[in-house]
Amino acid sequence: MTASARLLIVGPQGSGKGTQGVRIASAFGIPVVSTGDMFRANIKGGTELGQQVTAILDRGDLVPDELTGEIVRDRLSQDDAANGFLLDGYPRNAAQVGHLDEFLTARGEALDAVILLDVPREESIARLKLRADEQGRSDDTEEAIAHRLDIYENETAPILAVYGERGIVDSIDGVGSLDEITERIMSALSARGLTLAA
Ligand code: ADP
Repeated sequence: MTASARLLIVGPQGSGKGTQGVRIASAFGIPVVSTGDMFRANIKGGTELGQQVTAILDRGDLVPDELTGEIVRDRLSQDDAANGFLLDGYPRNAAQVGHLDEFLTARGEALDAVILLDVPREESIARLKLRADEQGRSDDTEEAIAHRLDIYENETAPILAVYGERGIVDSIDGVGSLDEITERIMSALSARGLTLAA
């Protein structure tokens, strides 16, 4: 049984939002819509889009808002996202928040909750270094990591104020075991009435 939930997970690089996002989405039976994963899939597949964004990702810069917005709109328009979705990595700045609002409002929808995974900067840098050794992601170089964390602090963290005013942000302590953190998120969502269908 799937339960309707329109969710966004936000957190600094290395906060574990990708891992937790997959867990939460599968519990609710909704798709994860991860812009980073979509870009990486295109790069791997050698598509035109992939070629357009390779250098941008390697530098740790943001892909232009128009291009990113188009990809997200296409993905959210697919049937499996009609009843809900979990966004990971989008929106990432104020302009993208505006684009998403416009798109959802036109469909008579809105985000139900924004999950903020709170992890100290030193902890996320330590986790990213570990991931760089394990996965060899081409944007996990020291420069690209520092650049992405700066963009997170300067452009992404401020969008939480916007969602905070709407009363939909759940700030979750992102330090602990994977299961503990999943539990924290599920109970915060449940307190909002977002529960799994029986
Ligand atoms: P991380 O959170 O570790 O930076 P992501 O997988 O979320 O990893 O994103 C990887 C890269 O994909 C980003 O550095 C950026 O180049 C691009 N990207 C992802 N989401 C967006 C977005 N919403 N807007 C612009 N670029 C994005």
